[in-house]
Amino acid sequence: MPTVKMTKTIPTISVYSLTGCAGELLVILENLNKMLPYVRILSFPFAQSTNDDGPVDIAFIEGSVSNPHDLERLVSIRRRCKMLVALGNCAVWGCVQKGACSRFDAEQMRNQVYGEQSTIEVMPASRVEDHVKVDVKLSGCPIDSTQLLAVTASLLKDHLPYIPQKPVCLECKLKENPCILIEQNLPCLGPVTATGCGALCPSVGAPCYGCWGPSEEPQMEAMAQVLLEKGYRLNEVLTRLQAFGAPTELFSRLTSSQALVNPPDRSN
Ligand code: SF4
Ligand code: SF4
Repeated sequence: MPTVKMTKTIPTISVYSLTGCAGELLVILENLNKMLPYVRILSFPFAQSTNDDGPVDIAFIEGSVSNPHDLERLVSIRRRCKMLVALGNCAVWGCVQKGACSRFDAEQMRNQVYGEQSTIEVMPASRVEDHVKVDVKLSGCPIDSTQLLAVTASLLKDHLPYIPQKPVCLECKLKENPCILIEQNLPCLGPVTATGCGALCPSVGAPCYGCWGPSEEPQMEAMAQVLLEKGYRLNEVLTRLQAFGAPTELFSRLTSSQALVNPPDRSN
């Protein structure tokens, strides 16, 4: 019987968290039995007590950069990995903490939570790609396990994965959901939010609040205009759009736009 000669060694992965809620870590943990035949885990401090923080093929990172320690770790991880995958809205878009930091001072928020005497170091929350090269961005809050496994399989074949960024509305249409933005005037952000969740919220009658982050070419001004015309206040609209990753510069554009500040009177 011919002997099979194995030439490739099993790829290695490490899983790290910056400032986040561990949602992505839990998704990886839940799917570990599907990944383990194909990868060897070097470091996963959330799940194992013995970790090897040396060179690694793929580093998965969740969380935003919200303090100097996050930044130091991120730069060190980038130096040690061949491919870096940013996982989840915090890592890819900065999530609610970046939204909050674009409106309020990070140190003032820290003092409100931990008191004036707090010495915890903070910095305005930012995305992973604001500091280092990111090879793959997989958003979600938390990420979808099917997308995680597809991205991992693709990287193991040395392919950069294609991750669709079409709007949630597309998934809604495929499910033949009635549109709650049009029919119920609910503030659904599906038109400007990337797919991946299967239109979870609109499918149960709740408006999408944008947790997957912006879709490709999101028409944020048009979305804001629609919500203002439905009677939502500018501050509400901005807060909603800002929560999960609309670009900060959008807000100066929106707040300075006279058309948005003074939406047309459609009462006649
Ligand atoms: S309910 Fe929301 S996601 Fe669904 S089609 Fe309407 S706007 Fe789009
Ligand atoms: S519908 Fe919107 S808010 Fe709900 S899970 Fe999907 S992307 Fe997130």
